[in-house]
Amino acid sequence: HALQDDHGQYAGVEGIWRDITQRKTMERELERLATRDSLTGLANRGVAMQALTLSFERRGGRRESAPSPYSVLIFDLDHFKVINDTYGHVAGDQVLRHIADLVTLQCRTTDTFGRVGGEEFLLVLENTELAVAHEIAERVRAAIADTPVAIPGGDQRVAVTASIGVAQYLETDTNPTDIFERADRLLYQAKLLGRNRVAIAF
Ligand code: GH3
Ligand code: MG
Ligand code: MG
Repeated sequence: HALQDDHGQYAGVEGIWRDITQRKTMERELERLATRDSLTGLANRGVAMQALTLSFERRGGRRESAPSPYSVLIFDLDHFKVINDTYGHVAGDQVLRHIADLVTLQCRTTDTFGRVGGEEFLLVLENTELAVAHEIAERVRAAIADTPVAIPGGDQRVAVTASIGVAQYLETDTNPTDIFERADRLLYQAKLLGRNRVAIAF
């Protein structure tokens, strides 16, 4: 508040100053813990699934006007158990971080990329029709297959591949997870067809 001298003239201000840096830092840390996957720093499962719900609601609200569908990619690393068994769990973790960084480079700012299982990832592609999602999936698949991972403590590089299921929002979807289930079934098809491939249903 303002201070006055004996003549009622302005003489300065007086106040209390409190440093809340520590509180703000802690709030940010709690936010990070609640939303990020601790191994890869990607969106955690909760946030990634929330992105599905947000896309579903956004799309539902616009059903009458210009349709702008969204698509999803679900991918799972191929024979990841073998990598763990051969090089150890620490190397396996390193592979997961490598994949996260590599695929993040392929993402646009409007995409949500999350780790939804041990070695399973979800990419929610806002405003993206199936044909474009297919191209992105092929790029992701190729980037993973073409970039072997350096294993810590050795000079070896390990080849990793992923199988990918791609699905687009359908007008008949009644639940945000419908698209996830379609993509997941296609991912399973990609595994059956021999892995290191993209499966899509037009
Ligand atoms: P597929 O091609 O059929 O997917 O075979 P896979 O070996 O990848 O599949 P499976 O489900 O048999 O194995 C997944 C493995 O992922 C088993 C589990 O130990 C490993 N895994 C899950 N989470 C982590 C993790 O956080 N770190 C490491 N290093 N391994 C993990
Ligand atoms: Mg796997
Ligand atoms: Mg798996």
